[in-house]
Formats: sequence, structure tokens, C-alpha cells
Amino acid sequence: MTDKIVMEMLEKTKAYLDYNATSFLSSGVKERMIEVLKKTGNPSSVHTAGKEVKAVLNKTREVLGSYLEVSPQQFIFTSGGTEANALALLGIDSDVLLISSIEHASVYKVAQLKHGATQEISVDGQGVLNLDHLKNLLEASKNQKVLISVMLANNESGVIEPIGAVLEIAKFYGAFVHVDAVQAFGKIPVSLKEMKVDLMSFSAHKMGGPMGVGALYIQEGVPLNALYLGGGQERGLRAGAENVSGIAGFGKAIEEIDLGAWEKVKSLRHVLENSLKNKFSELFIASDQVTRLPNTSLIAYGNIPSATQVIKLDLNGIYVSSGSACSSGVVKESRILKAMGLSNRFKQTAIRVSMGPGTLLREIERFVEVYTHMFEEL
Ligand code: PLP
Repeated sequence: MTDKIVMEMLEKTKAYLDYNATSFLSSGVKERMIEVLKKTGNPSSVHTAGKEVKAVLNKTREVLGSYLEVSPQQFIFTSGGTEANALALLGIDSDVLLISSIEHASVYKVAQLKHGATQEISVDGQGVLNLDHLKNLLEASKNQKVLISVMLANNESGVIEPIGAVLEIAKFYGAFVHVDAVQAFGKIPVSLKEMKVDLMSFSAHKMGGPMGVGALYIQEGVPLNALYLGGGQERGLRAGAENVSGIAGFGKAIEEIDLGAWEKVKSLRHVLENSLKNKFSELFIASDQVTRLPNTSLIAYGNIPSATQVIKLDLNGIYVSSGSACSSGVVKESRILKAMGLSNRFKQTAIRVSMGPGTLLREIERFVEVYTHMFEEL
């Protein structure tokens, strides 16, 4: 057999099911980026070369504004979701910071810097925000400047949070609201005209764009201070020359958003979960009683630690994430699963399968085959 045929056969047994970690770049996105990489110029320069690349930034800003139904001027580009979250949390001068107990580390760790001022809003067993707890925390913080930071969709379970209800409560108490929409954007409908938040974070690589690019939406009139000082880029709110080719790719990925394709993804998840439930009636699926992202399935079964499962799946060409993080050989349980009050067994054995519009039925079937075999061979 030629090497090419062997390689093709190997490729066919592979399954990339870690879309929430990062997504694929379409050929359209790559082409747009390459086109822009051929240009030389700093968007801050006033000459023609500078203006040409500045037009690339403006184009993506226009695309963002038109997709999210607000003025393009309200977006500033960042190096990704992490920076957008840090800028939102540290850039607003608040006395009290309320975050949900299942926020991404880029919110959670920044919030810890404001230790005395930060409090966590609890979630229920499905990962949904406890709105009564939010009200109680706001009631206790009356007459103080409060910033609430909650995610639209969680990266581990995919649970979608009731942002509309959060906004109503926040309005009553006069609190600012920041929403981390990194995992939701591109997968479910998002409109800033409908969802009148003060700040919203985005990341390109979770929705078909490149890594190292993101954006922060800042509603007009919201007082935000910059974290990076230097040149006056991005209305003085984010100094440093912009990642022009990355921003171009981000714009193209937004143009390519096809929410209809996620219906197909949802049906693939249905196949995955049903096939596994038919084999293992005790399979546990996180947040399956509430609205989730169409692509995410956080599952647990048996007694094999998550990290071991991830390695075994990897050896079979299947790429997923574990619900617990392993660093320096020590497996740490997931803060998010803990906040949801899930059992030790679930916390230790959960793995996350996340799909995208490019996922094939054969990848799901392959996953089901290897996952099943992993437990049956014990
Ligand atoms: N917020 C959420 C919910 C995420 O899932 C991630 C990445 O996993 C981030 C923020 C950070 O985004 P980035 O990788 O662009 O810094």
C-alpha cells in the first residue's frame, strides 16, 4: 500500500470532537487571511499603505456591527476572549464584582484579583444561574457600583444562561452587565439589539476564525479604562498594533456563520447521546434538562478517570477534553462541575465531546465504538 492510502485510512479513523477548545478554519477564512498577509502597512499610519490595512479593520468592525445589530464603533479588537474578559472586568471601576460560579478561568482568575470585592452567584445542578441568589447579592450591595459578569453559554456543559432575566434584575439595581459570549457566538442567535448588555466578549477561534483575535463590545456611554497604554489604537482602549490578518479572518468567519448548520450538529449530538444511553443506561449527561448549546455533550460513566479516558481516546485518534484538569501529574477536579454540585464520580469521570458543522456521522460512530469498547473491555 502506498503511504498516501495508509495516511487516508488513518485519517478516516480520526475524530476531532473538541470544537469548544478550538474550531476549524474554513478555506474562505484562510484565503482572506493570506490576502491580507500580503499587504504591508500599520493601520495607524496615515499614508495609503496604512489606510489600506485600516480598511480591513473597519470591514470586520462593520461585519460585527451588522451581525450583532449595533453600531460598529462599539467594538474594539483584542487578542482573544481572555483579554476581552480581563478588559471588561478590570476596566470598569466597580466596588462589587458578581460572577457566576461557573465562569471560565479568564473571568474567575481576574475576579480573584479583586478578592475582597468579588462574590459568586450560585448555579443549580443543571448549571443554571440562581437568580434569587443574584437578587440577594445585589440587595446587599445597594448604593455601590456593581459589575455582574456572566457567560451566555458554558464551555464545559454548554448550558445557556438566562441573560434576559439577569438584565432585568441588573437594571432594577443599576448594575453594569458583562457577558462572556465566547462559546455562544456563532452557534446560537445573538443580537445586541435584543440583549442590551453593557459589555460582551468574543473570540474568533471558537467560531471558525483564527486564534489570538477577539473583540469587546462596549455600549456607548459605559465608562471603561484601558489596561494597555501606548498608542491610541482602538479608541485609546487597547494600545498596540492590531492583528490585521487575524481580524480579517475573524470578519470572514462571521460572514460565514450559518446557524442552520448547527441543527445538523444538534442531531449528531442526539445520535451520540442516544447510542450511548442505549448501551449504558446509567450514562450521566450534564445539563440535559435545560437549554444547551447544540454541539456540547458532557458525559460520565463508569470508573475510569477522565484523564485516562482522554488518553485512551487519543491513542485511537479521537480528540475530546476531560472535565477535570491535569497539571503536574495531579488531576484537579473541575471548579465548574463542583459548582454544579455533581457527584465525585461524575467529577472524576466526565469528558466533554464538542462538535462543529464539519463533524461527520462517522466520527460520532467511531467515538461511540471506542468509548463503548473502553468500558466493555474492563
Ligand atoms: N471564555 C470562554 C467561555 C471560553 O471557553 C474561552 C476559551 O476556552 C475563553 C473565554 C478564552 O478565549 P481565548 O481562548 O480566545 O482567550
